[in-house]
Formats: sequence, C-alpha cells, structure tokens
Amino acid sequence: MTRNLVTDAVNTWCPGCGNFAIQHAVKGVLSDLEAAGTSLDDVVLVSGIGCHAKIADYTNINSFYAIHGRAIPVATGIKLANPDLTVICCAGDGDAYAEGLDHLIFAAKRNIDITLVVHDNRVYGLTTGQYTPTSPAGFHGKSTPQGSNEDPINPLELMLAANASYVARGYTKKMALLQELIAGGVAHRGFAFIDVLQICATFFNQTAQYNRLVYELADHDPTSFASACAKAREWDYNSDAPIALGLLYKQKRQVFDQQFPAPILVQADRDQAIQEVLEQRR
Ligand code: SF4
Repeated sequence: MTRNLVTDAVNTWCPGCGNFAIQHAVKGVLSDLEAAGTSLDDVVLVSGIGCHAKIADYTNINSFYAIHGRAIPVATGIKLANPDLTVICCAGDGDAYAEGLDHLIFAAKRNIDITLVVHDNRVYGLTTGQYTPTSPAGFHGKSTPQGSNEDPINPLELMLAANASYVARGYTKKMALLQELIAGGVAHRGFAFIDVLQICATFFNQTAQYNRLVYELADHDPTSFASACAKAREWDYNSDAPIALGLLYKQKRQVFDQQFPAPILVQADRDQAIQEVLEQRR
C-alpha cells in the first residue's frame, strides 16, 4: 500500500505561495522512491525555521524541525549516524544563506550525501518582509524602508566555488523541472544543492519578472565547471538578465559519509543510545 503523504495539519501558507509547488515536487519524488522499492521509513525530511519549514508539518514522513540556520548540520548528523537513510533538507534563503551560511559551505566542501532544497523567495516571509542575502539592491522591506543598499549574493556561484558536486536551479512555476531536479539530487551520491526561485505571493511576488526571464538549459554540459560558472554568472540576482534553470553542474567526488567505513553505531547500540537519551529526558 502506498503511503498517504498528507498530514492533518492545517495549512497556513498564503494562497499562491510557491511552497505549495515545492511540497508537491517533494511528494512526487517520495512517491517515485516508494514505487521504486524504497521504504519511506528510510527517508528523513529536515527543515529549518521560516514559512518553508512547515513542509515538515504538512508531509507525512519522518521529519525534524531544526532551529534557524541549523537545518544543514542536523541533516548532516542524521546522515552520519545512519548512512542508509535518504536525507532531504529544506531550508529558506535566510536559513541557508545568512545564519547558516558556514554550514552550507562546509556541507558542499565535505560533500555530505544529503539533498538541500533552498526555498529562495528572497525575503523573510514568516517575519513579514525583511530583506535576505538574495534580495535585490533597493529592496523595500520592513527593515529597509528606504531600500536595501546591499547587492545580493549569488548562491550558485558560491556553491561552485565551494566545490559542491550537484548544483541546480529550479523555479516554482516550472514544476516538472523542479521535481526532476530534486529527484536528480536525491539520486546523486554527494551534496546536492538546488536553489529554487520560490514565489512569495505576499511580500515579494516576482512571478512576472521570472516568467519573462527564465529559460531551461539545453545543450549545456553539466560536467564542465567553466560552463557552469558562465551560466551561474548570467544572472546575479539583481539584474534583468536571462535566468538559467536546470542542472548547472555535477561531478563525482568522494562522499563524506563514505569516509566512515562502518556505521558509527550498530542498530542495537543505536536503539539503546536513543532509549538512554529518552530516559534522561523523563
Ligand atoms: Fe508563502 Fe510568502 Fe505567505 Fe510565507 S509569507 S506563506 S513565503 S506567500
């Protein structure tokens, strides 16, 4: 019997929010994994803090709600403790590119085998509209009423420089491609990074700009670092340049958890350790 992935939690995302599309794509990936024989008991979804994080409430799967900026180290710890698990980590742009930036860079550097989906709406939505590291210069929000005077970072360039082994960009209005990129990230052995241009319907709705500028990569060689850099640099999260969607870069590298030849704890020891922690909490 296939698992019903819907929970009974009341959904509080705004109508039109791009988080719905990301959740739909993640569910599609999970259903395909299950159909291919993977037990969904062996899949863990980790989220950070922010609007995106409610995906853990709304998806009927093992999940862990981390604190702000710490979704990646939690996902890393889960993978190291049990390398047999498939770990999907969802984070916001504030989570991944601001408070959690060091964790992001080290996850790419180490090539830990997790899939990171960044819900990059380029605004802090949950706290009602402050600028984030990918907000464009001049962004008018609650914390920058005169307009932000900072240029945004380009997370794809950052990940290429950090030696990430799978670098992709999706868009919440291109759902088939989005699901394909997440599925590719899950299948990839190593750190898979997918920056998703996510519509925030309430505080930063970029639908018109994205629809005008996005295009899907064709005739692009994802094994070429130089080509990936060129595609990543076409759009700097600020300008009106074309925005490439798809898999920019993929390489084979030693995977971090493979450097630990045996699981850190065998199953029985792990169960006992968990029991001991639970006992201490009582
Ligand atoms: Fe989505 Fe933005 Fe509403 Fe948050 S504030 S739920 S990101 S539309």
